[in-house]
Amino acid sequence: MLGKLTRWLRILGYDVKYSNRMDDHELIALSTKEKRILLTRDLQLHRQATAKGIESLYLEEKTTEQNLAQLAKRYSLDLQVDMRKSRCPICNVRVKPISKKQASSHVELNTLANYDEFWKCPKCGKTYWQGAHWKGIGKTLKKAEEFEASLQ
Ligand SMILES: [Zn+2]
Repeated sequence: MLGKLTRWLRILGYDVKYSNRMDDHELIALSTKEKRILLTRDLQLHRQATAKGIESLYLEEKTTEQNLAQLAKRYSLDLQVDMRKSRCPICNVRVKPISKKQASSHVELNTLANYDEFWKCPKCGKTYWQGAHWKGIGKTLKKAEEFEASLQ
């Protein structure tokens, strides 16, 4: 359920693991072992984790923007993308800047003509650039910031 939020947090540079296959017991064990904050929409799981001393955040809001706002408020997250910290939304590993020349074999010619900065995921090999979708990313983060400001 939180797959979309996971991708956003990785783009923002946070190390996030996601699973919809683990049961409550496994999620709690992983959070303990790797000292992770547990994010969940499951109130019972949240209560169980908290009782065991695990830092957990129950996300009751529906939209990704609202969830980001909730997280930003609680953990003072910076809702700005810094590509030096960004992680591949698929693999959760930090993307590395590559030269235009290196990108040339992976992207279309018109992309190459229009953009100068490219990044690559060392794990899956996907190439990233701040293309047309980038405006949408900024919009979502701005909305999240507005939600954050409205939270008590
Ligand atoms: Zn990747």
